[in-house]
This record gives sequence, structure tokens and C-alpha cells, in this order.
Amino acid sequence: MAGSMLKFVDIGQRMPEKRAAGERREDFAEIYQEFDPAAAADQASRCSQCGVPFCQVHCPLHNNIPDWLMLTAEGRLEEAYELAQSTNNFPEICGRICPQDRLCEGNCVIEQAGHGTVTIGSVEKYITETAWQEGWVRPVRPRRELEASVGIIGAGPAGLAAGEELRRKGYQVTIYDRYDRVGGLLIYGIPNFKLEKEVVNRRAELIADGGATFKLNFEVGRDASLAELRQRHDAILIATGVYKARDVKVPGIGLPEVFPALDFLVASNRKGLGDEIPACDATRLDARDKHVVVVGGGDTAMDCVRTAVRQGAKSVKCLYRRDRANMPGSQREVGHAEEEGVEFVWLSAPEAVLGDERVSAVRALKVHLGVPDTSGRQSPEVIPGSSFTLEADMVIKALGFDPEDLPQLFGAQELGVTRWGTIAIDFKTMMSNLDGVFAAGDIVRGASLVVWAVRDGRDAAAQIDKYLQAKATGEAAASVAAE
Ligand SMILES: Cc1cc2nc3c(=O)[nH]c(=O)nc-3n(C[C@H](O)[C@H](O)[C@H](O)COP(=O)(O)OP(=O)(O)OC[C@H]3O[C@@H](n4cnc5c(N)ncnc54)[C@H](O)[C@@H]3O)c2cc1C
Ligand code: SF4
Repeated sequence: MAGSMLKFVDIGQRMPEKRAAGERREDFAEIYQEFDPAAAADQASRCSQCGVPFCQVHCPLHNNIPDWLMLTAEGRLEEAYELAQSTNNFPEICGRICPQDRLCEGNCVIEQAGHGTVTIGSVEKYITETAWQEGWVRPVRPRRELEASVGIIGAGPAGLAAGEELRRKGYQVTIYDRYDRVGGLLIYGIPNFKLEKEVVNRRAELIADGGATFKLNFEVGRDASLAELRQRHDAILIATGVYKARDVKVPGIGLPEVFPALDFLVASNRKGLGDEIPACDATRLDARDKHVVVVGGGDTAMDCVRTAVRQGAKSVKCLYRRDRANMPGSQREVGHAEEEGVEFVWLSAPEAVLGDERVSAVRALKVHLGVPDTSGRQSPEVIPGSSFTLEADMVIKALGFDPEDLPQLFGAQELGVTRWGTIAIDFKTMMSNLDGVFAAGDIVRGASLVVWAVRDGRDAAAQIDKYLQAKATGEAAASVAAE
């Protein structure tokens, strides 16, 4: 496509204002400015259509960003949407929650030149929201139905993307999930203020309208073994995510007001969805009027601190053992948390949770960053005698997730896993060591991102299609030979 004029306009994504530590904002204006058509076109037309689209290279889906920006700038939104959705099953979701500063936008040439990135995520969201409003988003309609069936374990983004792509090809798709709702971490992990739940629900309905069957409240391992599912289906995709919360071993960690991050976030999301929460949990897992300390520095920790602020906590502190430059969470998220009044306590590690029957404080030690380890990251070393305390009524552990023991859970000891417990696959075929059993998403990569789960789901669907076609050809040849 021909190049467009480079323009510098309001970047459409509010940059966080710095506030004094602990200073609160009460209005929670949303992160993303809503675009009107003129603002979207203005923003899209800032793309320089540079010859080397680094944004596209650094998007895990290799979305054709320059072309859909060009189409948006020209007001050709339906074509922009068609292009955006051709590589991404959930463009409006990625547009909202991708850490764009580490992916497409962080590599935008205009950003690199110091003029502020084209806000690619906001435009992607705008294009797809317009498509929903205009009725351009339709369920898949396969050209022909196939007999072969695929069972997908896990209705998170990896399972859903794979399910939609397999339905597109005509396979019979059943998606099993132990939750009562579709979406995995999209529905119960990521908070509503980042990703509204209607956005996830309408995708789930679309996939069901496209002919996929959902079996919810169905836990593989409890309601059926992997072997039973293999009997029922011609191929299986395991897309179960990673859910074993990492722990920290310090005295007092067993006190009742210390919670794993997902317990806190699931309760908050359930409340937002209008579910009944048992009375004790509704109070215990609510940060209102409490001093909250969140331990960890990743995106989950950022979601916890920002949720606690929204619930009306008295104070929210984030305790992290490295410094700002070395934290795994998105810098943009940290900026938003600071803007909302979260206080970051850098280079600090918990030493003990204090309290007799109830939590009263966290005692922490100062840390300095030592020599880099084999991964190149500087290892945190505690400074003896540097103890200090932080007032706390509630402590949230957000230290990351590991895979559950799937071979044991699935009653399938023969299923091969890596030394980290993730499922071992052949990266070309995405198949595990069991014939016809594939895997995708966090359960292969370890805790990662939605956009990578979508990419894996799409890749797995393509590989499952190849496998089933080869199987059908092999069976046809065998029956001819037998005649
Ligand atoms: C709090 C939090 C916030 C995050 N925020 C972001 C963000 O802002 N942006 C981003 O890109 N990524 C974010 N992530 C990461 C992202 O959510 C994951 O990388 C992504 O959801 C992985 O997709 P998945 O399909 O592999 O697994 P999941 O989304 O975890 O889905 C797995 C599904 O499998 C089901 N399941 C598990 N075991 C069984 C079983 N035995 N039987 C049946 N069903 C089973 C689960 O119930 C679940 O529904 C966040 C993660 C967390 C925890
Ligand atoms: S999917 Fe994510 S990384 Fe790719 S263009 Fe959209 S926001 Fe950027």
C-alpha cells in the first residue's frame, strides 16, 4: 500500500500522570480513550508505512498492522476489520490487554524516533468494536461438515482460538472446561476494568453459534480421564493453562488474611459478574478499608493492586524484590498503578507476616541486586539487618504460576512433560508424545500472554487438521488395500 502522511496528533492513550506515593485518584478514567471515527483515522494516519514493519514482526500474530492502519485512515473500516480478524480470533481483546509497550507499539518506528507510538492496540479495538456494532462479526460457517471430532480441554484463549479455527474447517468440536463459564483467565483472571466481561461472553456465544459445543463444569481427571476422551474424539488438544500458585516460605504465611492472587481476582470477577459469593469470602476477599500488601512484580500483581484500589482499600503497597527496571510486569501497568495511588516498595522481600490470629503487618528486608545469574538477570540478595515493617490487614501472594501435575490429574502417567511440568510437544507438529494429543497455550509455554495463546491455538488447529487429513488418507488407503 502507498505511504501515508506522517502526522503527530493526540496519541489517544492517556499517559499516566505521576502522583506522590500513596496519593489516590478516585475517578479511574479508563486507560483507553474512546475513539470517534475522526480520531481513529487521525491516529491511524500517523503510521509512516515504514518499509520494515517492526510492529508486525513483534506482534506474535504478525498482524498486518500497517495495512489495517492505512485502511482505517482511509475510512475503509470493514476492510480493516476483515484484515485484522484474518490473523487474530480476538482482535478487540488483544487491543485491550496486550502489553503493547513490549510488543507492537514498543517497536513502532515513530516511537523509536521519540515521537510517541501509533496506538495500535486502541485502533485494533476501535476497528473490531465498530465491526460488532455494524454486524460484520459473524460466526464461522464451514463449507462442509466433517465427521472427525476434536476434544479441546480448556476454554481459555488457546482452546477457543483452536476451536474456532477447527470449526472453520468443518470438524466437530467439543470444548471441555472445569469452570462454569467460557474464557479461562479472560473471564476469571483479568479484571473487568481491563477487559469487560461482556466482551468475552459475546465471543463465547459467537463460537457456540459457529457450532462448537461447550461442556462446562467438566473437569478432565474428575469427570473423564484423558484415555476416555481419546476414545471419544479423533484428536485432543490440551489447553489447560497453568494454575499452581507459587508460594513464599516465610513465617506467618499461613495466616487467614494471606491469599493467593487468583482467589482474590476470581472473587472480584465473580462479584462483577453478579455471582453469589459466600458471605465469609465476600468480606475476607474484599480489600475495602484494609491496608493491603501485594507481594510480586508481574502483571498479576499489577491486577491485584489495581483491583484493591478499586475496592476501596485504605492503602495498597506492592513489595517487589527487584527494581522498577527489572520487574516482569508491563511498565505501562506500573504507571497506571502509580497514578491510582499504589505505592511500590522496590528492592524488598518479605521476611515474615506478623500477627497473632490476624495479619497486622509484613516485615520485609531490603535487597540489592548482585551479579547476573545464568539467565542474565541480577540475583536479589537480602541486606542483613535491613528489616522494616509495613502495616497490613491483607496480604496477596502474586508470585506467578506453575503447571499442575497433569499426568497425575488426567490419570495419564504416560503423558510426557518437561522438567518444568509443562507439556512436552514437538514444536513442528504441536503433538505430545501421545498420538493425536496436542497441546497449546500456557500449559506449553508456562505463564505467558493471551496473544501467544491465540497464536498457539491457531497453530495447533492447523497441525490437528494436517494430522486428521493424513489419518483419513491413511485409513482410506488401508481400506482400498484391504478390498
Ligand atoms: C491475573 C492475570 C492477569 C493477566 N493479564 C494479562 C494481560 O493483561 N494480558 C495478557 O496478554 N495476558 C495476561 N495474563 C496471561 C493470560 O491470561 C494467559 O497467558 C492466557 O489466558 C493463557 O491462555 P490459555 O488458554 O493457555 O489458558 P487459560 O486462560 O488459563 O485457560 C485454561 C482453561 O483450562 C481450564 N482447565 C484447566 N484444567 C482443566 C481440566 N482438568 N479440565 C477441564 N478444564 C480445565 C481452566 O478452567 C481454564 O478455563 C494474565 C494472567 C493472569 C493470571
Ligand atoms: S495482537 Fe497485540 S501485539 Fe499484535 S497488534 Fe494487536 S495489540 Fe499489538
